[in-house]
Amino acid sequence: MNHPAKKVRALGLCSGGLDSILSALVLRRQDIDVAWVSFDTPFFPAVKAHKASERNNIPLRVEKITADYIEMLKNPNCGYGQQMNPCLDCHALMFQKAGQIMRADGFDFLFSGEVLGQRPMSQTKPSLRYVEKNSGFDGYILRPLSAKKLPETIPEQQGLVDRSRLLDISGRGRKRQIALAKEFGVTDYPAPAGGCLLTDKGYSARLRDLFKHQSSYTEDELNLLKYGRHFRLNPETRLIVGRTQQENEAILKHQDVSADISLNTPNHPGPTALLPKGAAPDMVLLAAAICAGYSKVPKDVPVAVQVTALGGVSTITVIPVLPRDVAKFLILS
Ligand code: SF4
Repeated sequence: MNHPAKKVRALGLCSGGLDSILSALVLRRQDIDVAWVSFDTPFFPAVKAHKASERNNIPLRVEKITADYIEMLKNPNCGYGQQMNPCLDCHALMFQKAGQIMRADGFDFLFSGEVLGQRPMSQTKPSLRYVEKNSGFDGYILRPLSAKKLPETIPEQQGLVDRSRLLDISGRGRKRQIALAKEFGVTDYPAPAGGCLLTDKGYSARLRDLFKHQSSYTEDELNLLKYGRHFRLNPETRLIVGRTQQENEAILKHQDVSADISLNTPNHPGPTALLPKGAAPDMVLLAAAICAGYSKVPKDVPVAVQVTALGGVSTITVIPVLPRDVAKFLILS
């Protein structure tokens, strides 16, 4: 009895952007079974990947890699981009993780939507080579959109992929991708770029400050860097002050109730403030005065500030400190 030939299976990295989608569709057009993996950390969520997976009917698995990612992020071999983005080592780590899944789950090769020359630093030929070598899966990483401009990969040599049906896109333009999207009937895709907080100036400044003052970080602490104004009051004490109701809620959602101290002005509209990992009494007083300073209360009268810690809730009375007087503590980009 004849068994049908085993289908070739490829596992792609998915950011959810158009290039990821097209790279998978270019392979699927060759009757290759494609699946995606997307990596989730506080710096880049997998939301767009989920959407792309649903819309294009491509199975997706999401892997949380925060602990390993932070280890790399503290000291990336190739350093950072303009902000705290370690793009080359980030890609190498992602391909390393994807490669482990490839081996474990019987995929034949890896692929991604990278386009040669699209990003000045991370998508040059030497950069793509660095990523391949450092992923541990050299030769198994195919970039279908630029394949014809790159050396042949092992799956092409093995005849698992028809190189003549791969593409030769390069550079920063989007024309060919947009035309290809039309050809495939892909109409719904997110705008390019964005989405990685490590390229954001403000977030990077707060992350640098955290790295400077602590040697370990929880996922919630990294999430807290997304919200509010951050003040460095002394080497041990950081204060976060929410700017909107939404931020106030997010701050409380990510607080560590066993260690953090939260503050608010119960009798007046005002921010939620947080002292991650608590603080000495004099710093709690200063934090309360800053919190009151950002609330809607008269600035020259004593104000009650509610302080919530593991030990319980207490109220202290302070004279508000004006924002301009504490600007020197702000962690700025
Ligand atoms: S932009 Fe962010 S997610 Fe993308 S490669 Fe760079 S560090 Fe990684």
